[in-house]
Amino acid sequence: MRKKKTRHKNQYAVIGLGRFGGSVCRELHNMGHEVMAIDIDQDKVDQYSRFSTHAVQLDSTDERQLHGIGIRNFEHVVVAIGDNIQASILTTLVLKDEGVSQVWVKAQNMYHQKVLDKIGADVVVHPEFDMGKRIAHNIVSDKVIDYIDLSDDYSIIELRASDKIDGETLMSLQLRAKYGITLLAIKDGEAMNISPKPDEPIRTGNILLVIGHNNDLERFEDTEL
Ligand code: ATP
Repeated sequence: MRKKKTRHKNQYAVIGLGRFGGSVCRELHNMGHEVMAIDIDQDKVDQYSRFSTHAVQLDSTDERQLHGIGIRNFEHVVVAIGDNIQASILTTLVLKDEGVSQVWVKAQNMYHQKVLDKIGADVVVHPEFDMGKRIAHNIVSDKVIDYIDLSDDYSIIELRASDKIDGETLMSLQLRAKYGITLLAIKDGEAMNISPKPDEPIRTGNILLVIGHNNDLERFEDTEL
């Protein structure tokens, strides 16, 4: 009979305590979650012992060491080893082999990202690349507040409504018919109106959360805002 695994819900482990991994670890800890901080470098482990529930020094490419700390019991493990791509890949393989259900890995470049996708990393993040794209969009248009890539062609963007569309509604703007895009929500200060009704008026300064093809989103932004 297979032994039932004990999953520790909301228990996290972060492997690699550089700037990125360190910041993930601190934030999880600040949010009140149990987080194990892991690094090969004892100085890093000492530094993060105050920002984690446990801090452990080990080499994550060594499956016996990860197995020894019961890594399979963690629901969610973040691999934030950057420079040593081989160590990052080996660690990801060991974690998936151990049966960790959510393995999130920081990629150093596109090749690294492709390999991580192939070997079963659940989420691959590329912080410098993603942030660079978001900042570029913010620089180009002062109407774009935030930007999330869904694929090469589709995105979700947050746009500030100018006085050009003050009083307009979903119906009058015909977002679906004219632009093929969907308004997910209207933010008015702290208030969030999800799936706004067709006759809901948009006011200057409202933040519009819109999903669609990048070309259509750009067309909408240029024409209406
Ligand atoms: P950042 O940009 O986030 O500061 P980085 O991309 O430069 O980090 P590195 O500094 O290469 O990433 O690695 C992050 C951490 O991972 C380091 O503290 C390093 O000691 C640790 N690390 C590297 N290899 C291993 C390993 N095999 N096992 C555990 N930790 C490791």
